[in-house]
This record gives sequence, C-alpha cells and structure tokens, in this order.
Amino acid sequence: MDREPSEELSVVPPRAECLHWGLIGASDIAAKRMIPALRAAGQDVRRVYSRNGEWGRQFATQHSIPEVVGTLSEAVAEGVDAVYVSSTNDQHARDVLAAAGAGRHVLCEKPLAIALEEGVSMVAACKAAGVVLATNHHLRNAALVRRVRQMVCGGEVGEVLAARVTHAILLPERLRSWRVRGASGGSGVVFDIAVHDIDTVRFVLGQEVVEVAATTAMQGLGTGGAEDAAVTCLTMASGVLVMMYQAFTVPFGGTALQVDGASASVIARDILSLEAEGEVELRDTHGWHRLARGGAGDVYGLSVRAFVESVYGRGVPTANGEDGVASLAVAIAIRESAEAGKRVRVKYGL
Ligand code: NDP
Repeated sequence: MDREPSEELSVVPPRAECLHWGLIGASDIAAKRMIPALRAAGQDVRRVYSRNGEWGRQFATQHSIPEVVGTLSEAVAEGVDAVYVSSTNDQHARDVLAAAGAGRHVLCEKPLAIALEEGVSMVAACKAAGVVLATNHHLRNAALVRRVRQMVCGGEVGEVLAARVTHAILLPERLRSWRVRGASGGSGVVFDIAVHDIDTVRFVLGQEVVEVAATTAMQGLGTGGAEDAAVTCLTMASGVLVMMYQAFTVPFGGTALQVDGASASVIARDILSLEAEGEVELRDTHGWHRLARGGAGDVYGLSVRAFVESVYGRGVPTANGEDGVASLAVAIAIRESAEAGKRVRVKYGL
C-alpha cells in the first residue's frame, strides 16, 4: 500500500457537536474508557447491543444507557448516528458491515478485523455508504508519542536508521478470557498489543512496513495457540529496521520507544502506557537531554473529538479505516512469519 506519511492530527475544537451513539459490544473498554470519553465530549450514548440479554441489561443499567437491544439490526437501526464497535475481534467485520449498511458512522476498535479480506471490505463498505470509518488506535493521541513524531519528522535525529518498541505488560486478570484463548480467532498478543505498536511505528516514522520476521511464544497465559509474547523485526519502506517486543506476561517490563538517527537518538520510556508517567530524552554528541515528562493525556477523548469533527467534514479521524487495515496486514504477516519460521512480505491488498 503506497501511502503518504500519516496526516497531522486535526486541530480539535474544545467542544464537539453531539451525535447519538450506539455501542456494539458491552465491553470492558467501553465501560472503563469510551463511555466516559464520549460523555465528556458531549456525546449521547443512547443504545447498547449485547449478544447476552442479561449482561446487556445489566451493562445498560450500570452505565445509564436508555436503550438495550439484542440484535445487530436493532443496534444499527434509526435513532443513532454513529456506532462504537468494541465486540470481540472476530465480530468487528460483521458489526461494521451492518453499521455501514444502515448508514451509520463507525468508530471501531483494533484490530479492525482478523482477516485482510474483512478489513478491505469494511473500508470499501463505509466508503460506498459515505460514512466515516475510524480505527481506535488511541496511542497516536498520546502527548509524548506526538512529541517523538515531531522530533523525527522535524529532522532532530537526522536520517532515521532504526527504532525499537517494547510493550511488555502483565495482562490484568479481568482480561484473561478470549484474548488468551486460541479458539476464539481474534486472540493473542499480536492482534491485541502489536497492532497498536505497528500503528505507532507507522505514525512516528511516517512510512509503511514492507517485511517482517517474527517469533512468538506461549509463556504461561496463552492457550490453544494464542501467543502471549512476540518479538519481531520490521523492515520499513526506506530500509529502516524496527525491533518490536510485546508480552502479556511481564509485570515490570514497561513500555519504551526509541528512534536511532544518524545525528541523535530519541529514547522515550513508559509513553505507551496510560497509567505511567512517561519521559522523552535525546542523546547526541553533547550527552543526554531530558526533553519532556508527563502523562498520555486524554487519548480516548481526542479520538472521539476527531471522529465527530470528521463526521461533520471538518477534519480526519485520529486513525482511519486504511490505518486499521495497514496495522492488521502487518499483524497477519507477523503471525505468518512466526508460524512459517521465515521472513514474510506484508500484503496490504487482496
Ligand atoms: P471484553 O472481553 O470486556 O468484551 C468483549 C465482549 O465480551 C463484549 O462485547 C461482550 O459481548 C462480552 N462480555 C464482556 N464481559 C461480559 C460479561 N461479564 N458477560 C457476558 N458477556 C461479556 O473486551 P475488551 O473491552 O477487553 O475488548 C473489546 C475490544 O476493544 C477488542 O476488540 C479489543 O481489542 C479492543 N480494545 C481496545 C483498546 C484500546 O485502547 N483501543 C483497549 C482494550 C480493548 P457482547 O458483544 O455480546 O456484549
């Protein structure tokens, strides 16, 4: 896929206009992050759809959502302008296609889908329906990720030669269900965490991944083929090499992003975690320079506001459908590479 380097994030006004939203998926991320973010952005969370009636009713009551529905067609029916899809990964394609078919704008969780064909068809369906499709790659909104991107794009490290990403966490117990079980289709650390890191690498370096070489492992949490650790080498379009490590099993690994250029290296710690205070340093011929320290900021709120602005034709989503297809395509190549034990070219189209 030939793309220009990622577009700049839109300038988000202080208050977004109100859309009526349906939630497809009564999920943890909806409860913990997205319902608060939607409401803080002045959005109306009107409807929730769950496949499990009792759970849906419980969720609706707990989060003061007026309508609870039990079918996908009801989820996308009249009364909502946009849907937020946070069902399990294997359901995203079905949900987005239903929403596009009903003319609803869609903010979809990552991975956009679990197969390339699905992702491509989701983008095409939303285009044909004239609705916005965004992928919730929230890390693009993290203040220090943007700082690193600015430094790289502004030439502060010189010609980029290599990068490193570490994203090693201990998966919270409440999330150890479908994510770590092979049978569900959308499980494993590659579809869960690596997709975010792939998107961050694309965003920071402004170029696509062309080839991957990966090794994955099951180190205690993953079962039935769901990998819980992955190490990958990405080759970018310009020849830049990127080392990535993701894990569900590491309590104190933390997160880090490093970009090595010909004149300086930028080293950022804990900037991919929403809980931690991150820091960015530059190392050059004069030594170490601490440049910034702080939290990630309102990453989900920014996603919502950019989405609403794009619905009103005043901006672009933080990450669009094509970005979701790109991170998915690389994730699929990582899985293939690990399974086959060889390098794999990334296939972006059908
Ligand atoms: P959950 O496991 O919390 O929810 C997924 C689905 O499982 C729900 O939609 C619901 O199904 C069902 N479910 C959950 N809890 C219950 C329950 N107690 N009883 C019955 N059914 C239940 O998933 P997550 O919130 O962790 O992830 C959802 C999506 O969001 C995934 O695609 C994930 O990759 C993404 N995600 C994105 C993040 C980001 O920062 N961008 C962070 C975390 C997750 P039903 O659909 O039928 O209601």
